[in-house]
Amino acid sequence: MRIAIVADVHSNLEALETVLRHAAEQKALEQVWCLGDTVGYGPEPNACLALLRRHDALTVPGNHDLAAIGQLSTEDFNPDAAAAAAWTALQIAPDERQYFESLPHVIQQGEFTLVHGSLRWPIWEYLYKPEVALAHLERQETPYSLVGHTHVPLLVVEDGGSPDGCLMNYLEDGTAVKLGDQRLVINPGSVGQPRDGDPRTSYAVYDDEARTVTVHRLEYDIAATQQKMAAAGLPAWLIRRLSRGR
Ligand code: ZN
Repeated sequence: MRIAIVADVHSNLEALETVLRHAAEQKALEQVWCLGDTVGYGPEPNACLALLRRHDALTVPGNHDLAAIGQLSTEDFNPDAAAAAAWTALQIAPDERQYFESLPHVIQQGEFTLVHGSLRWPIWEYLYKPEVALAHLERQETPYSLVGHTHVPLLVVEDGGSPDGCLMNYLEDGTAVKLGDQRLVINPGSVGQPRDGDPRTSYAVYDDEARTVTVHRLEYDIAATQQKMAAAGLPAWLIRRLSRGR
């Protein structure tokens, strides 16, 4: 079985459709796992949500999803993110609100745990340095876990022999992470707003027979998303950053 793993779609339908088309070609749509932040920043929250729900995606919520339904204050958001969150909140229908409210913040599925941020603070914490990774791994009850939130593809390998207690590696396009005895944390990168300097959309495919998780980067129609953002009156800086992948 092959499963598509998506994170931080951020209302970017052009990117999500590109990813799902690629996943279909790879026969990787038997399940879709979503690591949160389906909405926020981008121009098409409802369509992205509908598409993932049509695929019956196994989903945890992210900070932007909870902000969109008023469960999380946007006080700590930067002004552009807060403006986009306010715009997004106006688009959310009652049924979509109920859907977000119904989502568990952490899901265990077979050998994997799914969470948006970290297992210490599921909604908020950015897993990008060893001390956070270790706090997360301490709470990880499955061999492997999947996180989003940083918008950067990353592999963490638990390694008691290393000075930091774990090894952290950026995941390049096409890298197949082999699932073995070591406990791992994998971030598939962001579908809708990559922040690693590579503007291409990012997602991963889990192949349970090959026992691999492979990251894929794909070109998508960035200009189309940017035009829709401008038409919606979303902040200029959020529009520009999609071209730079920052
Ligand atoms: Zn995000």
